[in-house]
Amino acid sequence: MTRPDSDLHDLSLVQLADQLRQRTVSAQETAQHFLARAKAHDQSLGVYLARDEAVTLAQARAADERLAQGTAGALEGLPLAHKDIFVTRDFPSTAGSRMLAEYRSPFDATVVARLAAQGAVTLGKLNCDEFAMGSSNENTAVTAVGHAQPEPVRNPWNTDHIPGGSSGASAAAVAARLMPASTGTDTGGSIRQPASFCGITGIKPTYGRASRYGMIAFASSLDQAGPMARSAEDCALLLSHLCGPDPDRDSTSLDLPPADYTRSLNDSIDGLRIGVPEEFFGDGVADDVRQAVDSALAQYEKLGAVRVPVSLPRTELAIPVYYIIAPAEASSNLSRFDGVKFGHRAAQFQDLADMYRKTRSEGFGDEVRRRIMIGTYVLSHGYYDAYYLQAQKIRRMLSDDFQQAFKTCDVIAGPVAPTVAWRIGEKSADPLANYLADIFTLPASLAGLPAMSLPAGFGAGGMPIGLQLMGNYLQEGRLLNLAHRFQQVTDFHTRKPQGY
Ligand code: GLN
Repeated sequence: MTRPDSDLHDLSLVQLADQLRQRTVSAQETAQHFLARAKAHDQSLGVYLARDEAVTLAQARAADERLAQGTAGALEGLPLAHKDIFVTRDFPSTAGSRMLAEYRSPFDATVVARLAAQGAVTLGKLNCDEFAMGSSNENTAVTAVGHAQPEPVRNPWNTDHIPGGSSGASAAAVAARLMPASTGTDTGGSIRQPASFCGITGIKPTYGRASRYGMIAFASSLDQAGPMARSAEDCALLLSHLCGPDPDRDSTSLDLPPADYTRSLNDSIDGLRIGVPEEFFGDGVADDVRQAVDSALAQYEKLGAVRVPVSLPRTELAIPVYYIIAPAEASSNLSRFDGVKFGHRAAQFQDLADMYRKTRSEGFGDEVRRRIMIGTYVLSHGYYDAYYLQAQKIRRMLSDDFQQAFKTCDVIAGPVAPTVAWRIGEKSADPLANYLADIFTLPASLAGLPAMSLPAGFGAGGMPIGLQLMGNYLQEGRLLNLAHRFQQVTDFHTRKPQGY
């Protein structure tokens, strides 16, 4: 049963699942292989915030027992790591924040529990922007395994560049083959943009399709979990087990049974209408991105789909709308971190107000504090009508624009981000520059629509470029089908960065 070769990390999730089932490799060998790879790359990438070999190997041993007894789940023995926004009983759960640096959850997030119930083995917890606020994974305040201080996560395609964010480590780890798949969360693009920047595939399902229970809240009306892997096929396998109702714990989870997204992967896309919004191809889009997206669309035409022009006229407004609504919800969600029940508490203070002030000043990083202030401002008496209410109205209009577009097309395609991944530090002094780069991922988030990113080429400096596909509500199967068909005739998703 021992495999002499060490190419396990090049297998897809689906291939690895087969090998585990056939028992040509054991779950324990698999876990050991990926733990060793993690150690070898801790220094260069900084993706792990926590690992615990004993926990991982115990889970793998239990998986091997179920594989031997013929009681294996659909993901039995498959190694994954979770973005550190999901709470876990067996590992610390920090949200990348000093506020939760010492925090241990008494329970597992529903997404974590669902994947574990199918036999997935947890390798550890992954770095992210603090409370998922960011686009570069530079806003992390927790020290990664093997590091001496908090540092930005690095992109394996070029370690001088950011991996994207906020699920930056989830993307970098998969691209570097430190694991076949990971989980991420997407509030305004945090699965799609890092997937695009690291040359992997990631999908954010329809709002409500995955339970938010145990996902440390950023902006509750936007937050969604999703899988990140190298291929659409692997994402389909994970998404099928990650989604499903959670009525007792997340009242916004949709009351729909789980779906098997692997079944529709090979459906015909003949005659399928791909809407191309002109607003996604304006001046701000770099030539390399434009070209890659354009050739991807040409490839789809060869596969039988047809391109139709559509318009999402309020695309630009998605930025101010999101950066009002998300901070507003964040300011409310983060009020629970007051040093009383859990998380950091200032060591010295005079009275209760002083304890709150000191605790929160010490516990939160710059970007989080900026958003709490913006959010509190737009919700305050006198500004609520001027900002928050207006933003909510435009949010509805943005959703209506999508419904208008879906009258003439089946899915919508465009770039994920205006450029490839930028250099570490390039935008860190300018929050607005970061916000502007979110323009193409925010609209689907605000509308609650499913959307994904798949590798579509390479641009400046050899950095990956993603294609974004957006569907109408509950069309995640269609998106994965389109992505899979593309991946059968292209090899962008199979290329790997040098040295991994
Ligand atoms: N980049 C966006 C932000 O900073 C989106 C983050 C996310 O999706 N979690 O808020």
